Amino acid sequence: MTFRMQAVQESGTVRVADRVKALRASGVDVISFTIGEPDFPTPEHIVQAGIDALKSGFTKYTPSAGIPELREAIARKLKAENGIDASASEIIVTPTKHAIFMSIIALVDRGEEVILADPSWVSYEPMVRMADAVPVPVRADEETGFRLNPELVAEKITNRTRMILLNSPNNPTGAVASREEVRAICELAVDHDLLILSDEIYEKIMYDALNHSPASFPGMKERVITVNGFSKTYSMTGWRLGYLHADTSLVRDIQKVQTHSVTCATSFAQKAGIAALEGPAEPVRRMVAEFRRRRDLTVRKLRDMPGIEVVEPKGAFYTFPKYSQGMDSEKMTEYLIDEAHVGVTPGSSFGSFGENHFRISYATDIATLERGLDSMKAALEKL
Ligand code: GLU
Repeated sequence: MTFRMQAVQESGTVRVADRVKALRASGVDVISFTIGEPDFPTPEHIVQAGIDALKSGFTKYTPSAGIPELREAIARKLKAENGIDASASEIIVTPTKHAIFMSIIALVDRGEEVILADPSWVSYEPMVRMADAVPVPVRADEETGFRLNPELVAEKITNRTRMILLNSPNNPTGAVASREEVRAICELAVDHDLLILSDEIYEKIMYDALNHSPASFPGMKERVITVNGFSKTYSMTGWRLGYLHADTSLVRDIQKVQTHSVTCATSFAQKAGIAALEGPAEPVRRMVAEFRRRRDLTVRKLRDMPGIEVVEPKGAFYTFPKYSQGMDSEKMTEYLIDEAHVGVTPGSSFGSFGENHFRISYATDIATLERGLDSMKAALEKL
């Protein structure tokens, strides 16, 4: 194993999801609350656009940064919905996870530091390590309402800090940063000449809260990389389609990584992406309304379980309950699989402050949620 990969763990979300799949294949009836994947079909008009593209022979390489019509549609979306002064030339179309990876590889040098919330999504820290850079976690547990507290961020800034990673709504907690918090983090970035990578993949899956894109704040465009994608909002996980927006000076270097890695995003998926952005908003509204019902049910049922404490999520489709049963989260996950036949993701996969928690992805139908949560309750009552 290379020195670089020694410090990198396999993705916790993907590992547990694969474990559940293997158990199912062996005949065990396991309910999965693991991977963050909406259970809805991709809306029909989007699928149709993909089929039309395939049938018309749109199956070859596209321009590396994406087809112009999609980049223009994304620029219009970012302007209208996020208040970002975006132009098509500042956009790269690529799978969302790859957008984050490319941004870190291209913009953070060996030994530089990247500040990120703890807990936060399982892949940020490994991506920073793969760039031979140093992840600097900032406590963002129940004490801060699971939000990145600007004062705690300020304490971690050194002369090696290069980037702050922001993810609101947050995976795994569903916390949403307030406008004041985003503004304060932007001010820190200006004062210390830092970049912000803003992962806004859950921006539309929001309950009584608003998204505040850091790139929309005055003077921030040159230092913010905004990342978003189609997987969660439009239930398009398998299409592998997302994008990033950044100032030309940054995009130039990120684009080099794109040409040397995936070349371009999947051709027909890009046509489907245009249909997603320009088609009816109703399917998304319906999905978000359903996620809200599921969130309410999940939180209510969790609050009724022994030893469980849960902060109500304001966005995304995850809850991150804390438990007091005195076993580590890998063991708790094993116990819930063995005893309740329910798969969850161990909290420690999201950072050290995630220990003694587990993540539930409630992107699954109400009947399955009820069955799985009841089974978890029965298992926890035995401890
Ligand atoms: N982002 C989703 C999750 O956290 C999908 C899997 C992954 O990319 O980690 O479950």
